[in-house]
Amino acid sequence: MSHKKFDLVVAGAGIMGMGCALEAAAGGKSVGVYDPSGEGTKASWAAAGILVTRDARKFLSPFREFYVRSIRMYPQWLDEIAGRTGRCVPLHQGGDFQVYALDTPKGIENWEGKKKQLERENSQRFTLTEKLPDFLASTSPLENVRVLHFPEDAYIQNRDLLEALQAACRSAGVHFLSADTLLPMRFADGKTHCEFASETWVADEIVVAAGAWSVKILEGLGYKMPMIPVKGQLKRIAKFYPDDCMVHYNEDIYFVPRGDSLVVGATTEPGNWQEGFDAAGEAYLGKHLKTFLPRLADAALEEWWGFRPRTRDRLPMMGWLDPEKKWALCTGHYKCGISMAPMAAKCIARMLRGEKTLLDLEPFNPWRKQGIAFTAAVT
Ligand SMILES: Cc1cc2nc3c(=O)[nH]c(=O)nc-3n(C[C@H](O)[C@H](O)[C@H](O)COP(=O)(O)OP(=O)(O)OC[C@H]3O[C@@H](n4cnc5c(N)ncnc54)[C@H](O)[C@@H]3O)c2cc1C
Repeated sequence: MSHKKFDLVVAGAGIMGMGCALEAAAGGKSVGVYDPSGEGTKASWAAAGILVTRDARKFLSPFREFYVRSIRMYPQWLDEIAGRTGRCVPLHQGGDFQVYALDTPKGIENWEGKKKQLERENSQRFTLTEKLPDFLASTSPLENVRVLHFPEDAYIQNRDLLEALQAACRSAGVHFLSADTLLPMRFADGKTHCEFASETWVADEIVVAAGAWSVKILEGLGYKMPMIPVKGQLKRIAKFYPDDCMVHYNEDIYFVPRGDSLVVGATTEPGNWQEGFDAAGEAYLGKHLKTFLPRLADAALEEWWGFRPRTRDRLPMMGWLDPEKKWALCTGHYKCGISMAPMAAKCIARMLRGEKTLLDLEPFNPWRKQGIAFTAAVT
């Protein structure tokens, strides 16, 4: 059994875990990352990669500010990753068309909500029309619509990003272990001990960034975390329009270009841990495709699913779990983790160094009112 010592051990190799690992390693720390499934195979891989700011100019909440400013960090983050690896992952600023069908109560409700949000955020760089763009009109019968176009909204090929991020971590000296067994972490002599089947790691600091699985790790440490998995099912279909843009319909379904295909998503299934693309996914996507684009042939090129980590109050948990033991958390980003990763990684790295974070992490403190608690066994 070999022993390894690290300044930082990260549990989870999704976008959050690898993002935190890269920042810490770039700052000079020795970093180990372990993940039972290997690198970048869960929610971060399953995501659609949408990064939409809707041109927000006023931040209505700390969450919204974190989210928007993180997306604005993307060009710099991608440059940093490319600088280490030579891998350029493009940010596709193809814009987004948001279609609201005013024949349906849901469409009207979504539209009213969106108008209010645009006003409150003082959005300016968008256009509003009352007809579908030509590329949709040929496949859709909808007439009573409002269509918002945000020309600057972006998306990223998240699977390419994960590969580049992993390569950047390796180039910064991060050590990866695809551990199949993990005893609960143990704190002794001022260090945390992680015991795997083949080796033992000893760390000064720990970041738990295991997405929806973080609950299970915390359980083993004596904490109760109010977070559930929210399954999302998606598919890819052949691209039926030439532009590089995204399309959202009634906030029910979206299309994101991926090569010569389109990612179509997604279901929102709280509490569902069932693996697999199933009848519920087919029914949901099929129903909305039929309403919006009945003339479209939607044979699937690929079908998949992922589990988003959702907290009770829908806010992520980024901060200290136990500052004495130097255990931190970076999880609970629900539907926004791809968007929030650059800012989250930089803030957590600074927090570990004892520096002021770029944005205040207090609203995301794991110990907030709706946050974690000790389990009965520990208290
Ligand atoms: C269908 C879908 C669509 C989405 N679309 C978007 C989008 O368009 N834009 C956006 O911003 N966000 C999107 N998201 C949300 C985003 O994907 C997540 O918020 C983000 O990926 C969470 O990253 P993570 O690293 O915390 O979790 P994950 O990527 O799930 O990584 C967690 C890792 O922890 C590992 N793990 C599990 N158990 C353990 C253990 N015991 N020890 C150590 N590691 C463990 C897992 O194997 C996994 O690799 C989407 C999510 C889904 C599911």
